[in-house]
Amino acid sequence: MNHPANRDDHSQIEERVHLDVAVIGGGIAGLWLMNRLQQDGFCCALFEKNQLGSDQTLASQGMIHGGIKYTLAGSLSKASESIADMPAYWTRCLAGEGDVDLRGAKTLSRHFYFWSTDGISSRMSTFFASKAVQGRMDKVPRSDYPDLLKHPDFSGQVYKLQDIVLDTPSVISTLRGKVKEQVFSLADSEYEWRRNKENQAELLVIREGKRLLIQAKQFVFTAGKGNGPLLEALSISKPQMQLRPVHQVWVKHDLPYEFYGHCLGADTTPRISISTHSTTDGKRVWSLGGSVAEAGVKQSPEELIASAKRELCELLPWVDLSNAEWTTRRIDRAEARQRNFLRPDKAFAKSAEGIDNVIVGWPTKLTLTPNLANEVMELLSTLKVPHTTNCPAIDLPQAELSATPWDQEFSHG
Ligand SMILES: Cc1cc2nc3c(=O)[nH]c(=O)nc-3n(C[C@H](O)[C@H](O)[C@H](O)COP(=O)(O)OP(=O)(O)OC[C@H]3O[C@@H](n4cnc5c(N)ncnc54)[C@H](O)[C@@H]3O)c2cc1C
Repeated sequence: MNHPANRDDHSQIEERVHLDVAVIGGGIAGLWLMNRLQQDGFCCALFEKNQLGSDQTLASQGMIHGGIKYTLAGSLSKASESIADMPAYWTRCLAGEGDVDLRGAKTLSRHFYFWSTDGISSRMSTFFASKAVQGRMDKVPRSDYPDLLKHPDFSGQVYKLQDIVLDTPSVISTLRGKVKEQVFSLADSEYEWRRNKENQAELLVIREGKRLLIQAKQFVFTAGKGNGPLLEALSISKPQMQLRPVHQVWVKHDLPYEFYGHCLGADTTPRISISTHSTTDGKRVWSLGGSVAEAGVKQSPEELIASAKRELCELLPWVDLSNAEWTTRRIDRAEARQRNFLRPDKAFAKSAEGIDNVIVGWPTKLTLTPNLANEVMELLSTLKVPHTTNCPAIDLPQAELSATPWDQEFSHG
C-alpha cells in the first residue's frame, strides 16, 4: 500500500467525495458488483490499485463449472450442491438475459471433458454411474473424441460436461465497459486508510499533491488477497482470510489442440486440468492446473516444469511439445478463513466486525461471483444504504485492463 508522505488532519483535505458504495479491488468480483450497483441506482465507484483483473481473475482457467469435479470424492458435497446452477446462471448473462449483461464476453468452449487413462477406467465408470453425476454428463463415443484424444494410442474413456469456459479478458472488458467512468486507478497515487471519529472507514488519496478524501456509506472490499492487508490497515479482526497457493504452469505452442478438460487420476483432485487460451501474438497457451499445480507449490519453477512435462508425456505421449515454451507463476487463491483450512463451498460476504461501514467479500471461485454480488446487494438492502441521485465527479484516472499473465510471463523471454 502506498502511504502519503505527510499524515495530516482533515483541515488539509482539499476535496471530499461522498458515495453510497465504494468498491475496492477490480477483479471479477468488484467489477460484477459495480454493474449490479449501477443498475440499481447507487452512487458508486470502484478503486483499483494495479490494473483490472491483474491478480487471480486473469490467471484463472475461466471454467464456469457446476461442481462435478467436487463429486470425485464419491458423494455430492455441499460445494457441488451450491454451485450446480451456476453454468445456467452465467449462460443467461451471456445471452443478455441475466442480472448482468455479458453479451460482449467470449465463450471459449460450451463444454469440457473428463478423461481417464486406461488404468483407472473402472473407477471412472463407477464414478460416472453414480447418482451424483447422472444426467449431468455424457459418455463420448470414440468417433466424437476431441482432436487431442483421437489418437489410436489413447485407450481411456471420455465424458462430456455441459459446463462452459470463458475468455476472462473479454469478461473483464465487458464488465468494465458498462461502468468504466466510475472505475478508478490508484496506481499513480499515494493512499491511506483511516478510521474516523464516527468509527467509519475512509480513504485518503493524494495525487499530484492534491488530497482527496473518499467517504462511503459502505465500502465493499473485493480485493482478493489484498483484503488481508486492508483489514489489517483498519485494525479489523473479523472476517479473516486464508490463502490457498497454486503454482500454475503455462505452455505456449503451435499445436492445433484447443482442449478443455480434466484428467481423472487416483486422487479427488483432477490429475491435470488443461484449458486453452491465446496470446497477443496469435499462439496458443495451455494452462495446466489440478494436482500438478497444487503439488507444484513445493517445487521450484524448473522442478514443476519437469514434472508437468513428465505428466503430459505419460498421459498424451503422441503430443510433441518439444518446441513449446514453458513458464510458471505462483498465485494465491484468496478465501474467507475456514476451520481446519477447509475449502469454502460458497461465496462469502459479511459486514466487518467493529467498524460501521465495511463489507468484505471473496467469491471463492470465478463461478460463484454472481452469488457474491447477490449477497452484497442483500446486505446493502438490510443496512438501508440510500440511493443518492447526484453522484460527484472524481478527479482520478480510469483504471485500465491488465495484460494476461501468460502474455506478461512469455514477453519476459
Ligand atoms: C490459477 C487459478 C485458476 C483458477 N481457475 C478457476 C476456474 O477455472 N474457475 C473458477 O471458478 N475459479 C477459478 N479460480 C478462482 C478465481 O480465479 C477467483 O476466485 C476469482 O478470480 C477471484 O476474483 P476476485 O475479484 O475476488 O479477486 P482478484 O481477481 O484477485 O482481484 C482482486 C483485485 O483487487 C486489487 N487490489 C488488491 N488490493 C487492493 C487495494 N488495497 N486497493 C485496491 N485494489 C486492490 C488487485 O490488484 C486485483 O485487481 C482460479 C484461481 C487461480 C489462482
